[in-house]
Amino acid sequence: MATKTKQQQLDEIREKILRDKVTPELKQTATQLVFGDGNPDSDILFIGEAPGKNEDQQGIPFVGAAGKFLNEMLGMVDLQRKDVYITNIVKYRPPENRDPSPDEKAQFLPYLQAQLEVIQPKIVVTLGRHSMNCFLPDLQISKIHGQPKRIRINMRRQAERMSKGETGASPEASNGITVVILPLFHPAAALYNGGMRQTLIDDFAKLPIVLEQIQTA
Ligand code: URA
Repeated sequence: MATKTKQQQLDEIREKILRDKVTPELKQTATQLVFGDGNPDSDILFIGEAPGKNEDQQGIPFVGAAGKFLNEMLGMVDLQRKDVYITNIVKYRPPENRDPSPDEKAQFLPYLQAQLEVIQPKIVVTLGRHSMNCFLPDLQISKIHGQPKRIRINMRRQAERMSKGETGASPEASNGITVVILPLFHPAAALYNGGMRQTLIDDFAKLPIVLEQIQTA
């Protein structure tokens, strides 16, 4: 039997989210599932928080103002959207763009783990603290933004922990995968804050350097 492409495997995860009735309340208020966009063969995976209004309407992550800024920063390091893969932790828009709840995040983590296992990125760029805390639960984004961290992750385990309200301890993992996390501020938070905007641009500039270090390690 021919092996499935990464895109085919991702399509199956997408279908499974629909079949499994993940976060039915969010699904009811959202227009559609926003699963992911870009190149599944990329070494670089960006993970945001949850879709906003524009993403909900178009079914594609990061297409609003934050997405425009993200595209600009990709351009600054000679990358385009088709060179990376982009997804969110929570894949339905929370009403009025409220923060996703711990339970909503926990419900989506097993599917995020499945996406990671298919894509096998070398580097995961987390956008904002919600995304970062799914990988590095004990750390503060204000302290560690722009600092790459190599970790072994098993998001299914992490989902169990989050749904039990457990915090702390790194999601060290049996049968997980090893990746380097590059925690960045969320582009939406930095958009209208001059200082944070420059910090985010400076942190973003580290992406090709960190990737090069991983590839030659
Ligand atoms: N913010 C996010 O975290 N994700 C999106 O897709 C858009 C805005």
